[in-house]
Amino acid sequence: MSTVKEIPLVEQASELWTAVNAVRRRGGTVGLVPTMGYLHEGHGSLVARSAAENDLTVVSIFVNPLQFAEGEDHGTYPRDLDRDREMSAGAGAGLVFAPCTEEMYPQAPITSVAVKGLNAVLEGRYRPTHFDGVTTVVAKLFSLLGPGRAYFGEKDYQQLAIIRRMASDLSLPVEVVGCPTVREPDGLAMSSRNVYLSADERPAATVLWRSLQAGRDAVVEGSRNPDEVEAVMAAVLAAEPKASPDYTAVVDAATLDRPDVLDGELRLLVAARIGRARLIDNMGVSCDRI
Ligand code: AMP
Repeated sequence: MSTVKEIPLVEQASELWTAVNAVRRRGGTVGLVPTMGYLHEGHGSLVARSAAENDLTVVSIFVNPLQFAEGEDHGTYPRDLDRDREMSAGAGAGLVFAPCTEEMYPQAPITSVAVKGLNAVLEGRYRPTHFDGVTTVVAKLFSLLGPGRAYFGEKDYQQLAIIRRMASDLSLPVEVVGCPTVREPDGLAMSSRNVYLSADERPAATVLWRSLQAGRDAVVEGSRNPDEVEAVMAAVLAAEPKASPDYTAVVDAATLDRPDVLDGELRLLVAARIGRARLIDNMGVSCDRI
């Protein structure tokens, strides 16, 4: 007997359109949760939110080669489709769309969606082709099923900002919904890549959360100087010998611009490598100009 909870698995785009259209023709609403699979409770929270707000929730599972650079972990990214189907069904999804690469890209695409400027800062400095791969595949998923709403995690804050801007600039008929980051009890943001952490690296991975907390405390205690706040965050990362920091940043939460003086809604962001895992995290903080 199969232990996989029953949920339709669709691998072909034409079949997806038929299934989704049947719901739409009846006047039903469709929510999309795009993922790369190896689902955890963070993904589950997006699925549950979509299921509460739409008649059909589609979870897409696709490890998109376009968003990985040479030497990154596309080939080794963790995969477990049976477990993903079970989790999707458990969280309230009605369908899993898991296409193969040839189905998504029957020919190597020469068309790309680029959210210029936003794609080049923060993560974009370390992964220059990453966001164009993300926006291109998300635009394709939007075209393939036409969701009324699409759900993305604040865990990938820059990605969320970029997709919002893409949808706005291109007048895409979809509401982009951002959902809060789900964390382990010790503060580590849930991520499929956490499986790369060895047992002795795992406790060190809380350093990202600790760095964000220190940055927030500095703002709350009155610092309005971004250099100072970033230095506080960097010092926490530097004190963890297992972590190799990529960046600490404080930016305007809406524009991702770096203000000269901290004011209003801000976002603190960190990235660091721990062993094989490259981890990112972020946190919101608001303040008034002193
Ligand atoms: P991924 O499979 O890593 O591409 O993530 C798919 C979606 O799940 C993205 O919108 C992520 O931002 C979101 N996500 C990943 N981890 C979390 C988390 N810990 N909490 C909330 N959302 C998350």
